[in-house]
Amino acid sequence: MIRAFALQTTRLTDEARRRHDLYPVASAALGRTMTVSLVLGAMIKSGSVTVQVQGDGSLKGVLTSADSEGNVRGYVGNPYVDLPLNAKGKLPVGEAVGEGMLHVIRDMGLKEPYRGSVPLSSGEIGDDFAYYFTASEQTPSIVGVGVLVNPDRSIQVAGGYVIQLLPGASDEIITQLEQRTPLLPPVTTLLCKGKSPEEILHHLLADFNVEIKTKMPVHFACLCTKERLEQSLIAIGEEELQTLITEDEQAELVCHFCEEHYFFSKVELEELLHTLKE
Ligand SMILES: [Zn+2]
Repeated sequence: MIRAFALQTTRLTDEARRRHDLYPVASAALGRTMTVSLVLGAMIKSGSVTVQVQGDGSLKGVLTSADSEGNVRGYVGNPYVDLPLNAKGKLPVGEAVGEGMLHVIRDMGLKEPYRGSVPLSSGEIGDDFAYYFTASEQTPSIVGVGVLVNPDRSIQVAGGYVIQLLPGASDEIITQLEQRTPLLPPVTTLLCKGKSPEEILHHLLADFNVEIKTKMPVHFACLCTKERLEQSLIAIGEEELQTLITEDEQAELVCHFCEEHYFFSKVELEELLHTLKE
């Protein structure tokens, strides 16, 4: 009657932080979003899930993409958001995200990808996904996500959990979970104590009979390759490509998701132009 996921995403959040040179608030927003994206990815059998946090705050949005095998990638619009801690002494993720929409696109290789959107409720990511699951997927859910950043901007801990009531959950279970929810500690507290995802689930759902069904490693992994970026160079068209060759004599493309740089020499660009003309 209850389905739950718990994740430790410290290392992958730190890799994203390093690749994108993220400031603490940006690390927190991206780490939290990637954590839930991995859960969304684990819910599908194959394909990918894209999450877009579209807010009007100084972070200028978050975009992530996860697959069903524990791989995630993502970036924020502005990695250098520098805001003071809020009144509670926390990183002001909601303020950085601002007001806007949360979009979830599940592409399972079918004709039409599934799309769901809800307005952002606080921009704190956890609340927003809880609202998304409840309103858009009709699955009442508790979402706890958190990222702690060290003074040197590296990630101390990151992770989260999603607890969902499945159709047919008895009133007794619902009441029990509702009573327990306000008592749940922040996930960062549990992670700082060195608790594993399994231990976190046992802790959060102590009153229930927890059975661990699946374990999966999670990674920051991008799908970009030089061949894929060749396609985007071809897509700019003959005229633009010719201009690039004449004026710049080279091209350097950077993948938004992972900051990997790809260099194209004049000869390579001319070959692409040649392919285009054929
Ligand atoms: Zn990439």
